[in-house]
Amino acid sequence: MKSSELFARAKTLMPGGVSSPVRAIKPYPFYVERAAGSHLTTVDGVDLIDCCLGYGPLILGHANPHIREAIERQLDKGWLYGTPSPLELDLAGIITGDHPGIDMVRFVSSGSEATMAAIRLARGYTGKQDIVKVEGGFHGAHDAVLVKAGSGATTLGVPDSAGVVADLVAHTRQVPYNDAGALETLLSENDDIAAFILEPIMGNIGPVLPGDDYLADIREITAAYDVLLIFDEVITGYRVGIGGAEVLYGVKPDIATFGKIIGGGLPIGAFGGRRDIMELVAPAGPVYQAGTFNGNPASLTAGIATLRYLHDHPEVYRRLDDATRAIGEVAIDARQGSFVRIGSLYKHFFRGAPPRNYQEVKECDTDAFSRFWKAMLDAGIFLPPSQFETNFLSAAHSDQDIDEIADAYRLCLFA
Ligand SMILES: *Cc1c(COP(=O)(O)O)cnc(C)c1O
Repeated sequence: MKSSELFARAKTLMPGGVSSPVRAIKPYPFYVERAAGSHLTTVDGVDLIDCCLGYGPLILGHANPHIREAIERQLDKGWLYGTPSPLELDLAGIITGDHPGIDMVRFVSSGSEATMAAIRLARGYTGKQDIVKVEGGFHGAHDAVLVKAGSGATTLGVPDSAGVVADLVAHTRQVPYNDAGALETLLSENDDIAAFILEPIMGNIGPVLPGDDYLADIREITAAYDVLLIFDEVITGYRVGIGGAEVLYGVKPDIATFGKIIGGGLPIGAFGGRRDIMELVAPAGPVYQAGTFNGNPASLTAGIATLRYLHDHPEVYRRLDDATRAIGEVAIDARQGSFVRIGSLYKHFFRGAPPRNYQEVKECDTDAFSRFWKAMLDAGIFLPPSQFETNFLSAAHSDQDIDEIADAYRLCLFA
């Protein structure tokens, strides 16, 4: 069946025809038959260079032979035990070793679960109820963080989804990104704030980069008010380098959350932090968290193989950085919009200057983006289908792939 036919049937079986909303590309999404390296092949026989990479996890590309071999070896030994396995120690050891701020971790099955548990842990540790998030910041699809960006700096949370209890999200406050002053004002006026959660580099509207001292400033402010700082490193973890944003910017959070890359393409999440905080997690302490698939051997194996490969091949990060710089040089020449990149994260914003926060991102010309996105797809490049999603590159993208992406940018931005 062709993509259009599959989607027509899918709409009768699944709401909107998809398993996650961003996949509902109009008029119909392409269906993938197989993926290898940097390429996707659709059921319609179209070959695409993939710059979405499962929305970030696949830093080594699709069906990477090292990861695949590790998973195959593990499958021979079973893929779910319901008991501890030595693999947990390996991945926990790598993550704590790479992050000076993280002494202990708990494995879960998704990034959403990780942020949900991190917020509960912060509340349990501080005995306070409210949390602060950044406007436009994404931390998964659970109630406490599904809150619309408010217009003011400190608006009360308003649910972003039907079915979310208003009383609950009233405990979620918001501040603009890159505005340490707004955070300080909010914390000075409210003494019931348990945690400030943010993506240290905003990945789900951009990338939008932190200004010079922003992360150091919010570290100081949260500490001064006894508010825990939670870095949501689900995208940035092992993406901007070993040690993620924590190491890149030299700012230690109290709690950090992970997902995506640390599972090597299989489902995973994790949260970790300072020992005195983490020891409140059950069964060591009173903050409950549990899961059937927590620390499952398949995801751990894929994650361990991925992180070991990155440790053994640090040149991957340099090469990806060079690649996005090369694409950026083309985009900048086009003199329309602005190109933002960090490591293998990059995006062309249809807005004059690089956005610094959610309000500025919303000023982008989304019609121009849609035309650009479609032209890129026709040129054989699959970018995430929204102005508000980061593009990715992987170690599997060849020099030729990168030239083709840059050529497509030239073609489509000058069109
Ligand atoms: C993807 C993402 C999540 C959610 O992770 P899932 O595994 O999709 O639940 C949370 N936070 C950030 C920053 C993300 O990018």
